[in-house]
Amino acid sequence: MPDNLQPQNRPDPDLISPRILPHQAAAAKALRRARSRMMVCFWTLPLYMLAIWMLLTNRRETDAIMFVYMGLWAGFALDMARRRCPLCKKQFYVKHVLMNLQARRCVHCGFDSHSVAEAANRDGVTQ
Ligand SMILES: [Zn+2]
Repeated sequence: MPDNLQPQNRPDPDLISPRILPHQAAAAKALRRARSRMMVCFWTLPLYMLAIWMLLTNRRETDAIMFVYMGLWAGFALDMARRRCPLCKKQFYVKHVLMNLQARRCVHCGFDSHSVAEAANRDGVTQ
């Protein structure tokens, strides 16, 4: 992505804090986990549709699997939406009403959860 599309106030992690604070590392890992869970929901959607189709063709009940799957989606989406950025304390993935599912950076300040989580794993920073 070209630089002019990035938020202008994005801090450069190398310039501002070469050292990762433990609470930032923990938050970055939690953010990445929340995002991964939501992505798993997306990738399992075809399997879910296949399962529903198979149940319907066999004239079986689909209510239970639908409730469980939708509940899982709702739970993971809410968990992702409520996550806050460790730097600016605003909702990491939510800017206005819609959630940015692809965001690896805070939609407000640009805190890079992915790089911080990677660096924390590499440097062995723990909570
Ligand atoms: Zn932020």
